[in-house]
Amino acid sequence: MLFNHDEFDHESVTFAHDPDTGLKAIIAVHNRRRGPAIGGCRMMAYPDEISALTDVLRLSKGMTYKCAIGDIPFGGGKAVIMGDPATQKTPELLRAMGTFVEQLGGRYITSFDSGTTIDDIAVIGETTRHVGGIKPGAGNASASTAYGVLVCMREAVRIRLGAETLSGLVVAIQGAGNVGSRLAKLVAEDGGRVVIADINQDLALSVAESTGAASVKADEILSMDCDVLAPCALGAVFSADSVKQLTCPVICGGANNQLADNSVADELMERQVFYCPDYLANAGGIIDLHYQLNKPSRDALKAHLDRLAETLQDCHAIAAEHRCSMASAADLIAEARFQ
Ligand code: NAD
Repeated sequence: MLFNHDEFDHESVTFAHDPDTGLKAIIAVHNRRRGPAIGGCRMMAYPDEISALTDVLRLSKGMTYKCAIGDIPFGGGKAVIMGDPATQKTPELLRAMGTFVEQLGGRYITSFDSGTTIDDIAVIGETTRHVGGIKPGAGNASASTAYGVLVCMREAVRIRLGAETLSGLVVAIQGAGNVGSRLAKLVAEDGGRVVIADINQDLALSVAESTGAASVKADEILSMDCDVLAPCALGAVFSADSVKQLTCPVICGGANNQLADNSVADELMERQVFYCPDYLANAGGIIDLHYQLNKPSRDALKAHLDRLAETLQDCHAIAAEHRCSMASAADLIAEARFQ
């Protein structure tokens, strides 16, 4: 099953088991042609080992595409720890995880993800040098993620609506967390009219209040009459069913894995919805990590994030040339950069 899998073509998959600390973990290195594999360390109570393996294979491959589209000298990797972060995460287990990362000799660099925090990565960093995103004074990657979404959004409305700026356009943001709240501020500063929703309605209200946005109920945001829809909450938000309620001409947001499956990209194309591929729109986070690790220069970071607009233009040109969806066009660009 593993060596003949059509979808997965990983360089290496390594398993670790440390009975003393209870660590059960998998590190998948997908592709290192652009540089060492980088990706977060997720901790989750997976129902079984195959679920953990499937997750780490899928996520590490996604990181290869994200690093390539973000044009940074890294490949794709990911780590998963099997266990409930609320009850099974101990400093000893995290240090054992660090030893596991160290054993790969720098082929994989870890960072935080669902179920792990920056503080956890600092503990992992006690036993390995190969960690990112924990330097004191480093910027918050969510700020770069939100800025990258803004850069793509400006370009998307220029291409699809012929609008030179966001001024006066209605931007509906789903999710008022790290990315959504920062994006709301940036869009408002650009003159956009923000409408925001979160399942935590108090959070949505407080972000609306501080940015001059309006807030609506969480179940109203997808069908809002708006110019841009910015998903900044959960994955798989667009399915064959949910796209039917869309009225927006542009989708550009920070959430990962926005499409439930590949057929949704074609459906969006048929509906003439300009979809900014999710891993391009949110590449700012990983680009930020690259600058934290290698070149701590805010000016160079901003210039790099601004270049996401050119990549979106390239996607649009390739989609037109190949008559394919924007998601497929992004994959073609990424693959040409890492194969
Ligand atoms: P977060 O947890 O800070 O915020 C997510 C918000 O979405 C929460 O406030 C949550 O209550 C809300 N939410 C959940 N379900 C919702 C729903 N159905 N309707 C409305 N709101 C809902 O997370 P974040 O760091 O802002 O990340 C948001 C998304 O962006 C995630 O998909 C994440 O994987 C992706 N992403 C984040 C970064 C980053 O730098 N933080 C980088 C790349 C990708």
